[in-house]
Amino acid sequence: MHVLVTGAAGFLGSHLTDRLLSDGHTVLGVDNLSTGDLDNLAHLGGHPRFRFEERDICTSFDPGHVDYVFNLASPASPPEYLRLGIQTLRVGSVGVEHTLEIAARSNAAYLHASTSECYGDPLQHPQSESYWGNVNPVGPRSVYDEAKRFAEAMVMAYHRSRGVSTHLARIFNTYGPRLHPADGRVISNFMMQALRGEPLTIYGDGQQTRSFCYVDDLIDGIMRLAHSDEHLPVNIGNPVEFTILECAQAVLEVTASKSKLCFVDLPVDDPTRRRPDITKARTLLGWEPRVELREGLERSLDYFKSKLVHGEGAAPSS
Ligand code: NAD
Ligand code: UDP
Repeated sequence: MHVLVTGAAGFLGSHLTDRLLSDGHTVLGVDNLSTGDLDNLAHLGGHPRFRFEERDICTSFDPGHVDYVFNLASPASPPEYLRLGIQTLRVGSVGVEHTLEIAARSNAAYLHASTSECYGDPLQHPQSESYWGNVNPVGPRSVYDEAKRFAEAMVMAYHRSRGVSTHLARIFNTYGPRLHPADGRVISNFMMQALRGEPLTIYGDGQQTRSFCYVDDLIDGIMRLAHSDEHLPVNIGNPVEFTILECAQAVLEVTASKSKLCFVDLPVDDPTRRRPDITKARTLLGWEPRVELREGLERSLDYFKSKLVHGEGAAPSS
């Protein structure tokens, strides 16, 4: 297949690109490098079936004939989408429409990277796909949450009205090598702080929960969904739930760090709990994650250590 991957220089986009290439496909990766990093694709330099174009998907473009579009382009970490609020809304609306047009023109299938954030601060626990969510439409996180909810509606409209074979992956917190060391997400913050011997920053009292999926498991789930006949959203995430304090403890153990904890203000509208019900993925895709948190952190350790050695820590630039 000829595959278009948007957000290819990002954390998940680069892993997905690797998987598609190893499955024998030809990949065109596009990215505007707003939060991504070409280092994530450096190992593919000279690959005969891979090409990269720096471009913003909010401007329409013609990639030629493609058989599949994977749309991953969007800022994804809270500090980044708060910094890039308008861009986040645009990539989730205008950018999604442009990529759906490409799929419609080429008669290509389409998979969109949606998010557990569609559930907002959920009143139903764990979250199944039938839950409509509890989202503040005007709070600071709305730039991301509402963009992603609009994107799901747009994807379903192209499926229903234009007959595009679309797929919606509701991705829950995913981590692993190539997570930007300074993008402010909890695993990257804690790993870098622990390795530097700095205090781990616990937002609020640390009793809020997340369910962390290792990147290899996530990519496996995405690929199974891409090959399925399911058009409605499917949760892809690890159903084992941790408080943020438990997550900090796991990071301290894996890094053998003596860092202390420090407690700082909880961001506005930070969801209190998040755990996927993956019955649908288990039943339809025969998928479930295999890598538990400590093992995934161990697999990520060398990557974060390498970022320490190279002195990286600056947030991605605009
Ligand atoms: P990331 O920031 O590493 O990757 C996103 C990529 O999109 C970056 O390379 C960025 O430069 C690119 N991008 C942003 N706006 C663009 C635009 N207008 N045009 C072209 N490229 C653009 O984040 P990630 O964790 O790899 O997330 C990938 C996708 O998965 C995102 O859509 C995100 O919302 C979704 N997702 C991720 C997680 C997670 O835990 N990692 C959870 C839920 C959903
Ligand atoms: N968090 C934290 N310390 C940090 C970064 C994040 O306590 O240094 C918390 C954050 O408040 C949230 C959880 O960890 O409750 C996950 O945050 P992240 O930014 O990774 O993603 P989210 O799930 O909120 O989109």
